[in-house]
Amino acid sequence: MSNYTIHGATGDWEVVIGLEVHAQVSTQAKLFSGASTEFGAEPNTQVSLVDAAMPGMLPVPNRECIRQAVRTGLAIDAKINKWSRFDRKNYFYADLPQGYQISQLYHPLVGEGQLVIDADEKAGIPEDKTIGIERIHVEQDAGKLMHDQHPAFSYVDLNRSGVALMEIVSKPDMRSPAEAGAYVRKLRSILRYVGSCDGNMEQGSMRADVNVSVRKPGEEFGTRTETKNVNSVRFVMAVIEQEARRQVDLIEDGGTVVQETRLYDPDRNETRSMRSKEDAHDYRYFPDPDLLPLELDDDFVAECRESLPELPDAKRDRYVNELGLSAYNANVLTAEVDTAAWFEQLLEATARRANKGKGDVAKQAANWLTSELFGALNRVDKTLETSPVTPEKGAELLALVADGTISGSIAKQVLEKMLETGDGAQAIVEREGLKQESDTGAIEAEIDQVLAANQDKVEQYRAGKDKLFGFFVGQTMKAMQGKANPQVVNELLRKKLDG
Ligand code: ADP
Ligand code: MG
Repeated sequence: MSNYTIHGATGDWEVVIGLEVHAQVSTQAKLFSGASTEFGAEPNTQVSLVDAAMPGMLPVPNRECIRQAVRTGLAIDAKINKWSRFDRKNYFYADLPQGYQISQLYHPLVGEGQLVIDADEKAGIPEDKTIGIERIHVEQDAGKLMHDQHPAFSYVDLNRSGVALMEIVSKPDMRSPAEAGAYVRKLRSILRYVGSCDGNMEQGSMRADVNVSVRKPGEEFGTRTETKNVNSVRFVMAVIEQEARRQVDLIEDGGTVVQETRLYDPDRNETRSMRSKEDAHDYRYFPDPDLLPLELDDDFVAECRESLPELPDAKRDRYVNELGLSAYNANVLTAEVDTAAWFEQLLEATARRANKGKGDVAKQAANWLTSELFGALNRVDKTLETSPVTPEKGAELLALVADGTISGSIAKQVLEKMLETGDGAQAIVEREGLKQESDTGAIEAEIDQVLAANQDKVEQYRAGKDKLFGFFVGQTMKAMQGKANPQVVNELLRKKLDG
């Protein structure tokens, strides 16, 4: 179990965490209107009469939003409710023209599900852990207030008003900041595989309400606070640390935690009280009379299921079991769907060029991608997405190593040049004369010179100082500017020294 404890004056405390993640559904149009959802548009340019809540406007559910939420539910092994309903959640705020949000309280689209966070010894997660998911419901986003635009004025941008959100509510199953961080990362990974949300937290496509309480181990759950709209994995973890510590100090000082809504201030790394927590009855929820209940038929759900791609856990296991990759490489390559897609294109192209099965070239391709390419991209501040080296070009480089045209160390130089110029491996090798020398005559001539120049060492070697063999290899390679085929160098040296 998690070994995260808070050491208080009265003993050890455990933290209990539940997350409500709001994920913007990746669709072109809003949940109940045809207005565009594109990010970054000028304020109030993507607002239909429905989104502006003009009198008499009626909402029409966007089938694609429902479809994406169902696909997401299936991806977390959840129960899909074939009958669900929209409710009005009433409150007044300047960014909410309707005066209510259309949401789902009583009958959500998706019921109980789960996901697995992976063991991470270093982060204090000793084994895989299943985190329960309570529900996913679909709801509208609100607009955005823009303060201090002009002295003494605030504006409202309704572009986001009516955009579809999935609210994914976890059970209170997490026990440390690391577990919560792993949960958000895993959920984001699944959403991106499914394609139902782009997961870009910095653009607000995904944000978390962080519920935290503390208790002495074995006791009942304590009273929780909810910190709203946390927009990065790092901040989610920071909120939990701060909030748990604050609650322990408060209780140990004789106070009590009140159930309230708080806000996180990243500049000060602290949470602040925003308002006391509302209960459901404060919102006067009632079924939205403008919308019929949602009824899904079996074919629709079956189509959603069939459209799901291979998900990250299944892909990781397949990479280990079928491709023979290490658990580490399989994890790195499957964590993000874009990385996995890049790898699979590389694998395909490498196998084709080598005329071999994928299993035969998978390790070579995986090692090169995780240790060579990632490192090189990092150094030039690029990612796979912005990389001038495509999977096809990567495969071209790997083929040159595999057929002995260049050595592994020359391949590193070639890769740097590929990133710099965008040129292909073959072209660079020819232009720069980097071809590996396998011609025994040329290599033999260099070896003869090395041996002649180091007669004393040759005698020591022959008298039993085996370790000197590496010295001769090194000298020969140096004389040939790293371009000699190491296998040929080794063979020839053995023959001359031992034979
Ligand atoms: P509400 O609808 O009032 O926000 P929910 O019962 O739906 O309340 O719970 C919201 C979130 O709070 C869920 O993610 C749940 O796991 C979490 N939660 C509930 N009780 C606790 C608790 N005692 N400590 C930490 N988190 C909790
Ligand atoms: Mg809530």
